[in-house]
Amino acid sequence: MLIDTHAHLEMSGDVREVIERATSNSVVTIIAVSSDLDSSRKSIELANTFPGIYCTVGIHPHEAASINEELCNELVSLASERRVVAIGETGLDYHYLNSPRENQIASFKRHIEISVNLDLPLIIHIREAFEDVIDILRERRSSSSRGVIHCFTGDYETAEEFIELGFYISFSGIVTFKNAEGLREAAKRIPVDKILIETDSPYLAPVPFRGKRNEPAYVKYVAEKIAEIRGTSFDEIAQITTSNANNLFKFNNISSLSTSKAN
Ligand SMILES: [Zn+2]
Ligand SMILES: [Zn+2]
Repeated sequence: MLIDTHAHLEMSGDVREVIERATSNSVVTIIAVSSDLDSSRKSIELANTFPGIYCTVGIHPHEAASINEELCNELVSLASERRVVAIGETGLDYHYLNSPRENQIASFKRHIEISVNLDLPLIIHIREAFEDVIDILRERRSSSSRGVIHCFTGDYETAEEFIELGFYISFSGIVTFKNAEGLREAAKRIPVDKILIETDSPYLAPVPFRGKRNEPAYVKYVAEKIAEIRGTSFDEIAQITTSNANNLFKFNNISSLSTSKAN
């Protein structure tokens, strides 16, 4: 059993087939992660349609400039939907700076507030902004925020800082890339009970599909690589990462993935 904790499922035109292929590759649960209001609504719809799909609501740092009070109220109201298991993806992306830093920081802080108020974990996206994210999480430590650093790209020391702040570390296909030695070191050394796996599909397909369109079925390549790095079995990594995801996201009752309509 595998769980893909981060897929932009609403971006797959052929969702039904994508889910079928995931099912045949032992994926039992997929979290459909949202990046704006529109994708939040679509993710909820997918989660309400297919068993085994859960979802998040949130505004990606790229879209942070669009955030206002009305939008936040709408997020809060969508977050009460039954199959919403997290707030995000939020965070800071200083690589593209599609939204100015001030907007990203304000939006991130607002997402933290919402996640704490609703007692839902956060899904955090970070690009070239580790220090600022750590500072903001430290500042708010007393508010007991929790969640996951998704598609982690840092080194072992950085991973340990996030774990210390109460966060899980999620590895994507990047862990299979040739130049990712520092990341593999983190995947090898952090406590196994803090590891999650994801695809971030349709982006970042793992080797041997690098550069192609990614999909949840490929999360097994991430699990395989982590098993290899840690010198353990695929089954053990599958089992532990699935149980870690259950601990963080508390899926009320995991139903098997299938394309039949949920009731
Ligand atoms: Zn992201
Ligand atoms: Zn994403």
